[in-house]
Amino acid sequence: MLARMTSEPEQQIGVGTPDAFQRLWTPHRMAYIQGENKPSGPGAGDGCPFCSIPDKSDEDGLIIARGERVYAVLNLYPYTGGHLMIVPFRHLADYTELDSEETIELAEFTKTAMTTLRTASGAHGFNIGLNQGTVAGAGIAAHLHQHVVPRWGGDSNFMPVIGNTKVLPQLLADTRRLLADAWPKP
Ligand SMILES: [Zn+2]
Repeated sequence: MLARMTSEPEQQIGVGTPDAFQRLWTPHRMAYIQGENKPSGPGAGDGCPFCSIPDKSDEDGLIIARGERVYAVLNLYPYTGGHLMIVPFRHLADYTELDSEETIELAEFTKTAMTTLRTASGAHGFNIGLNQGTVAGAGIAAHLHQHVVPRWGGDSNFMPVIGNTKVLPQLLADTRRLLADAWPKP
């Protein structure tokens, strides 16, 4: 079981010691800081990545699951392995703009994401939330997205072994497949 894979490397690395996986991911925050993939304006036609991702294949878009009104997608600039987002298909900035059906499906997808991450990765805990507005830290403020960030004791993670030998796109592809396979099918 994949969940079993987490315990041994964690013990080898030791609690509180940043492992290779974290070091691998951290530099990719730089691309985010430098504004890569940022839309040019607030509209859906201003290059909003969350509007264009659903047009791609699941593999190319790093999509884990598609609902009727929202989808789950891996974060290109993750805080941890498995950091995903629940995103409405509609281009909306503010949580209060979601209609009732979108609100319900976003909540249901958040719950399913937690279950899936626990199943696939043995996540110990989660940080979940919405950054509303640039002032609150939203990277792409024009299109809301709920972060689901899995956490492990000692900030370890679920693919430390292959993380030593694979580059980021492979890691993201492997993570997407792992979570897509574990996501419950309707
Ligand atoms: Zn959008």
